[in-house]
Amino acid sequence: MSTRCGIGYDLHRLESGRKLIVGGLELAFDKGPAGHSDGDVLAHALCDALFGAAGLGDIGTHFPDHDPQWKDANSLIFLEHAGKLLDERGFAIEHVDAVVILEKPKLGPHFPAMREIIATALEVAADKIHLKAKTNEGVDAIGRGEAIAAWVVATLSHR
Ligand code: MG
Repeated sequence: MSTRCGIGYDLHRLESGRKLIVGGLELAFDKGPAGHSDGDVLAHALCDALFGAAGLGDIGTHFPDHDPQWKDANSLIFLEHAGKLLDERGFAIEHVDAVVILEKPKLGPHFPAMREIIATALEVAADKIHLKAKTNEGVDAIGRGEAIAAWVVATLSHR
């Protein structure tokens, strides 16, 4: 048995007229991430962390953003696919630790629902998914409410 870690990062610009979807959950807000898919930064960074830990490239390798198939795609599909690939290759998800950075709205109250959604997509227990949120203290594009970002570290075991 070996243990492997992967890191993932993502950022999307926030624009009016887009739904704000984080961790597969739609939140009431007047802006949302611009992007080819639904722009779910948490799902995208988590995919990159999982692919990185497993040595399977990154989200763009598996879901190219020029592919019309993924236009406005629900990013939970990406997570489900990543989970299946890992399982096929003998990897098990031991722990996920994430931080989402955005100025508004507050994410904390939505974490229990997000953890359930992510855990279901990955077919793991919800207590393996740990979520945190930070503001950017008004600094830079995230602090001005122009962008949302996420960092994720995933720990896998390999049989
Ligand atoms: Mg992205």
